[in-house]
Amino acid sequence: MNETKTKMLHSWMAAEHARLHLVAAWPESARKETVLNAIQSSIQRLIIDRDVATFACVVCQARRT
Ligand SMILES: [Zn+2]
Repeated sequence: MNETKTKMLHSWMAAEHARLHLVAAWPESARKETVLNAIQSSIQRLIIDRDVATFACVVCQARRT
């Protein structure tokens, strides 16, 4: 496993999640939908990488419990 690449992908995922959680707090609007879809498709593209699958978002984890 390439550690530098993994770290880079994980910080990228963290950034996408930060945006996702920020936008999720916006009032409902067409713009919110558009931005959320863009972030989610970007996360979907990232998660294809096996190294990214080990990423755990602290906000998502906190919500699950
Ligand atoms: Zn998250």
